[in-house]
Amino acid sequence: MLVVMQSTATSDEIRAICERIEALGFRAHSVEGEQRYAVAVTGDLHGIESCGLEAMPGVQEIIRISKPFKLVSRESKAENTVVRFPNSDVTIGGEEFALIAGPCSVESRDQTLAVAEKVAAAGAKMFRGGAYKPRTSPYAFQGMGVEGLKILAEVRDRFGMLIVTEAVDTEALEAIEDYADMIQIGARNMQNFSLLKRAGRSPLPVLLKRGLSATLEELLMSAEYIMSEGNRNVVLCERGVRTFADHSRNTLDLSVIPAAKKLAHLPIISDPSHGTGKRDRVAPLALASAAVGADGLIIEVHHDPDRALSDGPQSLYPEQFASMVMQVREILSVVHRTLNLEPAKGRDATATPAARS
Ligand code: PEP
Ligand code: MN
Repeated sequence: MLVVMQSTATSDEIRAICERIEALGFRAHSVEGEQRYAVAVTGDLHGIESCGLEAMPGVQEIIRISKPFKLVSRESKAENTVVRFPNSDVTIGGEEFALIAGPCSVESRDQTLAVAEKVAAAGAKMFRGGAYKPRTSPYAFQGMGVEGLKILAEVRDRFGMLIVTEAVDTEALEAIEDYADMIQIGARNMQNFSLLKRAGRSPLPVLLKRGLSATLEELLMSAEYIMSEGNRNVVLCERGVRTFADHSRNTLDLSVIPAAKKLAHLPIISDPSHGTGKRDRVAPLALASAAVGADGLIIEVHHDPDRALSDGPQSLYPEQFASMVMQVREILSVVHRTLNLEPAKGRDATATPAARS
């Protein structure tokens, strides 16, 4: 439910509404749009109609949100959400297209720095790399853990790229908060509700990947879990779903991108690396993603993919990534998006989120 305030409402009136909502046992979330200021009410709303909110000073009207995802819905906020990062001009969801690249896994310092140098030179403003890996086999490489996070922090300090890395559980998430700029929730964890709630209490933006067999509504409900805990900086990611197709690892469902944009105000990026599983399909599907309105790409790149410890067959060589970026830029000019290929700005070596707080 949305309590829409009059344009003349005072901050005292808004505070009184929020206090009343919380006193009734519901949660109040401020929703600041360009045209209006509203307070979204979440919780089990049975009986709320008789609580008199409509008659309180400063209230213009009460609107019921028809969708099960309330805070995520365009009904609560018409404008696109633009996710921003502290001490950085990188955004996701604005006019600028987001370019995230790096290896599937952080395997060693040398490997990570080698890939980072290449993707930074090609224009990536954000670096990906798993320090904690969700693997199908318990015997496969599980990631370097905190040592990997330290390597990622070094990448940020040397190349100025922001770091996005996956939290496989709440323990990993806590460690990631000390080193990274964005938390990735992987496809297999899309419905790990305790992890989603913990991410919702994090100060870091969250990259939420669609589950292997999740519907759009399920993806949006998972985003709602994060937002309902207070974190508004959620970016959705289409990474392919499992179908009967056997010509690729997954089927990148590009139609979900305009569908998500219609229902939700959150940005959505595309992952054609996992979405195809095959190196030669990545660039074509990256171009298609840009054409259908994705807000960015997350791409796996490795300087020596034959020896990668995970996802080598879908990892681009750095030169392939650089030429893909130039092609993507051409598509973006058609859909009126920009892609800034200036190298990322270097950052103060002490400016990790932990050091900033
Ligand atoms: C990854 O990004 O390397 C990864 C494991 O992704 P997903 O959760 O989409 O499989
Ligand atoms: Mn991977």
